[in-house]
Amino acid sequence: MSLLEHPMGLKSELLTEFSEFEQVVFCNDQDTGLRAIIAIHNTAAGPAIGGCRMQPYPTMAEALEDVLRLAKGMTYKCAAADVDFGGGKSVIIGDPSTDKSPEMFRAFGKFVDSLNGRFYTGTDMGTTMEDFVHALKETNCIVGTPEMYGGSGDSSVPTAMGVIYALKATNKTLFGNDILAGRSYAIQGLGKVGYKVAEQLLEEGADLFVSDLDERLLEKITLKGKETGTQVKILKGDEIYSAEADVFVPCAVGGIINEETIEKLKVRAVAGSANNQLLHQKMGEKLQSRGILYAPDYITNSGGLIQVSDELYGSSKDRVLAKTKAIYYSITEVFSSAERNNLTTVEAANRMCEERIESRKRQNSFFLHNRRPKWDIRH
Ligand code: NAD
Repeated sequence: MSLLEHPMGLKSELLTEFSEFEQVVFCNDQDTGLRAIIAIHNTAAGPAIGGCRMQPYPTMAEALEDVLRLAKGMTYKCAAADVDFGGGKSVIIGDPSTDKSPEMFRAFGKFVDSLNGRFYTGTDMGTTMEDFVHALKETNCIVGTPEMYGGSGDSSVPTAMGVIYALKATNKTLFGNDILAGRSYAIQGLGKVGYKVAEQLLEEGADLFVSDLDERLLEKITLKGKETGTQVKILKGDEIYSAEADVFVPCAVGGIINEETIEKLKVRAVAGSANNQLLHQKMGEKLQSRGILYAPDYITNSGGLIQVSDELYGSSKDRVLAKTKAIYYSITEVFSSAERNNLTTVEAANRMCEERIESRKRQNSFFLHNRRPKWDIRH
């Protein structure tokens, strides 16, 4: 456990920020092999909510760094979506293809339950809805399970829809109308979210450049393009960054907007679902100086959060749809606030969220278990 032996294994920036976190819990269960970390960043607006990522992190410090970054990001995402939840996240250290078992997820559920309603979780990269059906046997604090288990089902559906509304808002600002047709989009990643975004764009009459590591997904979207009569051009690896498209739509991994890729971009805007697209916040300034409009990722991809947080009030597809459509107005407001205040769009979005979080802090300094029934109809 390198972190315990070398607490300075954390990057200095996160070490300084560590005091911002309300609670960080290390979970070990020798019987099932579970090694997990739960990080609760801020519960001023309500209990923490955030998915559970499973990855074979090489060191405990890397797992801790990831969970802290992601938990803090969730505080901003909750504020941007204006839901009564705070930021949290969890990670399980292990290889999702070989190390999982139902017992491991039950053990994880017990640790989540021990937080007594301060943290709600569900799927993220490396975990599935089915994994959380096992965790649900030990705690009610699970969201995003299949509908037959009382959950709201696949969150990639509203996430993809939110990306589409963010693209419309981006087009409106760039081109004066929010029509998706007749424009071209470079989509990196055709997984659960990216494929749905690609399909919708083709149906609207847009042209696509696409990349994915999985050939089957590339073949499938090519067939879809033939059906809709629009262009689908497959690009290999890094070619996606220099695609001659109107908008780059990252829907795979984070950190892809960095010193190296930013120079290659020929697009007018970046708007996609991937979490933590900018390697550093400074990349927001670089994009702006190159005249590339950036739709902040945590607003663009908030449709999934909107759906799972809505579950706790009793799911309503109409309500989720209405709130997801509102991503259009949030992105538009961030673009105009950035323009008015001479900020990057990242700064404008952060400022909007920080004002909301401060206002909630003035009302509640932290979330208490005895207020839980007000939020979660299932308790
Ligand atoms: P996914 O695992 O279903 O899909 C990711 C796809 O990206 C896969 O098909 C994979 O082959 C491809 N990929 C990976 N690395 C690549 C690379 N270098 N180049 C091209 N393709 C690559 O994941 P998802 O659920 O679709 O999520 C995509 C992104 O959106 C992730 O960053 C995720 O954190 C974020 N996100 C997802 C949701 C959701 O509801 N699923 C919500 C918010 C944010």
